[in-house]
Amino acid sequence: MALGAEGSLRQRAADATKRSAATAKEAVATAAGDRTGSQVGKTWGRARDVSTLNVLICGTIMLTCPLLVIYTWMSCSSFGCSLTAPVEKALTKGVWTLVEEDFPTPTADGFKLYFAWLGFQALLYSYLPGKIGYGQMTPAGFTLPYTVNGLLAWTVTHALFIGGSLGLGLFPASIVHDNWGSLLVASNVYGYFLTVFCYLKAHVAPTHAADRKFSGSAIYDLYMGIEFNPRFGKYFDFKLFHNGRPGIVAWTLINFSFAAAQYQRIGYVTNSMVLLNFLHAVYVLDFFVNEDWYLRTIDIAHDHFGFYLSWGDSVWLPFMYTLQSHFLVRNPVDMSWPYFSFVLALGLAGYYIFRAVNHQKDIVRRTDGQCNIWGKPAKVIRTEFITSDGKVHRSLLLCSGFWGLSRHFNYVGDLTISLAMCLTCGFNGGALPYFYIVYMTILLLQRISRDQERCKGKYGKFWEQYSAAVPYKLIPYIY
Ligand code: NDP
Repeated sequence: MALGAEGSLRQRAADATKRSAATAKEAVATAAGDRTGSQVGKTWGRARDVSTLNVLICGTIMLTCPLLVIYTWMSCSSFGCSLTAPVEKALTKGVWTLVEEDFPTPTADGFKLYFAWLGFQALLYSYLPGKIGYGQMTPAGFTLPYTVNGLLAWTVTHALFIGGSLGLGLFPASIVHDNWGSLLVASNVYGYFLTVFCYLKAHVAPTHAADRKFSGSAIYDLYMGIEFNPRFGKYFDFKLFHNGRPGIVAWTLINFSFAAAQYQRIGYVTNSMVLLNFLHAVYVLDFFVNEDWYLRTIDIAHDHFGFYLSWGDSVWLPFMYTLQSHFLVRNPVDMSWPYFSFVLALGLAGYYIFRAVNHQKDIVRRTDGQCNIWGKPAKVIRTEFITSDGKVHRSLLLCSGFWGLSRHFNYVGDLTISLAMCLTCGFNGGALPYFYIVYMTILLLQRISRDQERCKGKYGKFWEQYSAAVPYKLIPYIY
């Protein structure tokens, strides 16, 4: 969205607020009647009161997730991506032998590569030109500006990588694959450092103090984050940077490097690897083409910045989302053309649903409901919500088109394209390539319930009205 368009959008929103000034007092009364000031502060945004069980789960995840990533890395690098072989070795030769022989080891090259990459991405994020996009209003009432230059950063990064490796021969295109173990160690060091850094920053130098949430549990705060939008200066936003750059820019670069490694190993690149690279590239490019839209998704509009996002973006995303290409290097799959066409069609259908659903929400919010959805005027529920400064704001919930079928039909599209990505690996290599679809299903189901709580807290009776109009959460007539 261009700055000018954003300006007119704000004007429209301001006009809408003026038009309804007469009812504003009533709205406050209604909202306050339904949800007292203290209840609103508690329910909208990240949880403040957490159970001991929640704290235990968060602590366990912080300790075990890195082991899970190491396990999958080890299963691919030493055991051809078999998930059971490492356990068998541990049982026959002992756990210590497994650790000594098969765990990733740090190398100076791996650290140099990782931190040079990170620094380079930070420079691109800070200095490449880009329009200014705006996020959703935060619980404390801030509407933050973001530099939206991800597409340019993606293009520059990939052009330099491909030009430097294939064009000029400065380094092998398989460099990421070749240093994968030491990159894993380096990114873990960074992911944990970032988690602790953000925890301390939230206490001593918060960016927007009023948007912090303290739960009373250091473990929970480390995991879920305290600051909502930690920043350096006005524009260097930790959330947008870490999700987009070391996370999503890396995704296609890693795949490309693993495709190059496959070429080195077997002398050609399989059609399954090409299709996987294509589907991942569609998803990644969509993210950057629509980076402005991403500013209003749950990641940016709801999640605070703790281990969940800082380690997740630094380690989980680049290492676990790319597992299929690690698999295909060790287990090349030549898809039959009918099967190839089926997986391609499934992936594109998933992408179409994903984009079309997200677009409907974006357009209805941008036009304040003055648009057609599936050829008819959009049906919306006009809502109010209160920020922690006590001010009443207005928004709307779309309940026609895809958003009339279920409350999260966009997730159906995401799950379909995720399944297609996994299917590129065929059925003869065990479960590892299917990790992604299992994980996405769990992640999105959990998101549905988190979003339900958040929206109930934010919109109160309006959300109940919307839930009655659109009863299904994901798949119509099923769930
Ligand atoms: P949504 O884009 O669906 O955002 C949910 C938010 O939208 C709600 O909190 C609410 O926020 C607003 N909203 C809810 N219902 C309506 C409605 N009827 N009309 C208008 N606004 C509504 O969810 P996500 O941010 O989770 O996902 C965005 C996309 O990213 C999805 O397609 C998802 O599949 C994908 N995704 C991918 C992931 C990956 O790792 N690959 C991870 C997570 C998501 P409010 O009213 O406050 O604006």
